[in-house]
Amino acid sequence: MESKPESQEQSSGLALTSTIESTQDPSLLELETLVDHSQHPPTTKLLFDIRDDQCPIIYSCKYDIKFFGLQKLHPFDVTKWGRTHQILLDTEVIKPGQSVEPKPAEKSDLLRIHTDKYLDSLKSGINVAAISEVPPLACIPRCWRNSKLLKPLRYQVGGSILGTKLALERNWAINLGGGFHHCSAESGGGFCFYADISLCIKFAFDNPAIKRIMVVDLDAHQGNGHERDWGNDKRVFILDAFNDSIYPHDFRAQKSIRCPVLLQSFTSDRRYLELIESQLKASLENFPPHFLIYNAGTDIMENDPLGCLSITGDGIVERDLLVFSQCSRRQIPILMLTSGGYQRETAAVIARSIQNLVKNSVIKI
Ligand SMILES: [Zn+2]
Repeated sequence: MESKPESQEQSSGLALTSTIESTQDPSLLELETLVDHSQHPPTTKLLFDIRDDQCPIIYSCKYDIKFFGLQKLHPFDVTKWGRTHQILLDTEVIKPGQSVEPKPAEKSDLLRIHTDKYLDSLKSGINVAAISEVPPLACIPRCWRNSKLLKPLRYQVGGSILGTKLALERNWAINLGGGFHHCSAESGGGFCFYADISLCIKFAFDNPAIKRIMVVDLDAHQGNGHERDWGNDKRVFILDAFNDSIYPHDFRAQKSIRCPVLLQSFTSDRRYLELIESQLKASLENFPPHFLIYNAGTDIMENDPLGCLSITGDGIVERDLLVFSQCSRRQIPILMLTSGGYQRETAAVIARSIQNLVKNSVIKI
C-alpha cells in the first residue's frame, strides 16, 4: 500500500462539508454553555486528508495479531481484519491502494479519554492477561506484549478516529477493525484495551457542528465501555441490542442505554431484523443525530461460541444494509466498526456485506 503524504490537517478539529442545523433542545443549549470553546483540542497525527483515488475504507496490515502461536490459545481468529481486506481486493470491491492506512493512536490521543493510571496499568502482564483472557500473556516480556498485541490495537484505534473525520466529510467510513466496546476510560475487559468508541465521540465533538451523536451497538455483547463513559451525557444516544444472558452483565451501564434491545439466546433472523428495524427507526425519529457510530459486531452469527445467537450470514448482510440505508436516507454520517465475531467465516461475511452496500448504492467507492 502506498504511503500517504504527511497530513495537511494535523491539527484538531474535524472538517464537515455539510451544514448541520443547530439543535433547539433546551437541555443541550444549557450544556453548551458549559463548553469552553477557548480550549483547542491537542494536536494529533491521526487526522489527515486522503487522496482522491482512495475511499473511506480503513485498514492497515498492522491490525492483525500474530505471535508465536499464542493467538491460538484464544477462541478468536485475530487475523480476520487482514482476511476481510484481502477478500475485498480479490472480489474487486476495492482496488490495491484504495483503502486508507491509519497511523497508530499515541499516548496523547489516548489521554483524551483514558487516565494516566489506566494506561500505566497496561504495563502489567497480569492486567493484560486478564483483559485479553489469555493467561500465558502474563509470562512473556513486556516489549513483546506491546509490539505484538497492544500496538496492532492502537493502529485499529487510530483507524476508528480517522474514520470519524472521514465519515463526517464523506457521509460514511468503515474501519475494518476497532469497536472495542467493553473498554471505558478507566477499565478494560473482554479483549478491549482501548476505548475507541469513546474516543470517536470525543473527537467528533471537537467539531462544534456536532451536537448529537448516536451509537448503534449491534455486537452480541452489551457495550458497557462507551455506556459507562457517555451514557449519562444527553448529547449521546445509545441503542444497544445484545444477548443479556452473556458477558458482561454490567447492570449499572445498562441503566444508561436510551434504547436497550434485550435478545434471548438463539434469536434468529426474522425476529432480530424486525426488532432492529423498528427500534432503529424509532430512535432516529426521537433523536436525529449529526453522526452515528455503528458497532457492527458479527458475533451474532450462528455457531459463535460467545454470542449464542442464531443469525445467518445473510441476516448480517441484511442488518448492515438496514442501518446504512436508514442513515443514507436521512443524510446522517455513519462510521462502521467491525467489533466482535471471530469465526473463520466472519471475514467473508463482512466483505460480502460491504459489497452489498456498494451494490445497493448506499456507499460509493
Ligand atoms: Zn461481542
